[in-house]
Amino acid sequence: MRIPRLYTPQPLSLNQEFLLEEHTAHHVATVLRIKKGREIVLFNGLSHEGQRGEFKGIISDINRKKVSVECREFIEKSTLSPVNIALGACLIKNDRMDWLIQKATELGVNEITPIWSENTDIKIPTERLEKKQAHWQQIMINACEQSGRTDLVSIHSPQKINDYMAVSQADCKIILHPGEGEQANTLTEVNKVDLLVGPEGGFSDDEVERAKEAGFKARVLGSRILRAETAPLAYISVLQYQFGDW
Ligand code: SAM
Repeated sequence: MRIPRLYTPQPLSLNQEFLLEEHTAHHVATVLRIKKGREIVLFNGLSHEGQRGEFKGIISDINRKKVSVECREFIEKSTLSPVNIALGACLIKNDRMDWLIQKATELGVNEITPIWSENTDIKIPTERLEKKQAHWQQIMINACEQSGRTDLVSIHSPQKINDYMAVSQADCKIILHPGEGEQANTLTEVNKVDLLVGPEGGFSDDEVERAKEAGFKARVLGSRILRAETAPLAYISVLQYQFGDW
């Protein structure tokens, strides 16, 4: 039977009992219907005594509202790729942005920044922004649970494209733009990549010009136009293959 693997934000240590957060406890007790004594894996995205990993434990107590886990073993495990990828993705429609966040997490990115650009037609009212960010955070956590990641992805608040370009400091900055620049696999020696991807309507000429002035190199992915959620995933795969852990 598969051992459930769950995220908790609290600091964890060996041979101690931890109460799971309310919504995780509800998931364990009511959705997964896990019984007392069952094995479980917990991770918190933090290092334990300087090492990345996860804790194996057992459900030591359970009722509908409260679930306690006793951590019994620390398993050292780093899921960080040698290449550090920060994705700057122009906002796309709800479920497609969710899908992009899920898949980029599985593929091993370190950061995601949703971006507003000239042709981004997604509006998020200020009063809904906090809720939206919590929703993205939960999608990322679920993807970390499922994919075995022991580190989390930093999901930043949405930024305007100019602000994103101004703070970008990676040793390699890439803007994906159809028909512009060299092919995807032409980089050599990369540690940290800031990867900027456009919305469905693409980048304006002015944005591409400004990105180049800010040190972004243009790259293309072949001769076909990919959807705004496909292009970053394809390029992240190229980076993982060339410089990461694939
Ligand atoms: N008509 C738009 C254009 O020409 O820019 C198409 C935009 S495309 C649907 C959305 C984004 O995905 C683009 O802004 C770009 O960042 C990326 N993209 C899609 N296909 C690409 C390709 N073949 N090469 C490089 N980037 C691509």
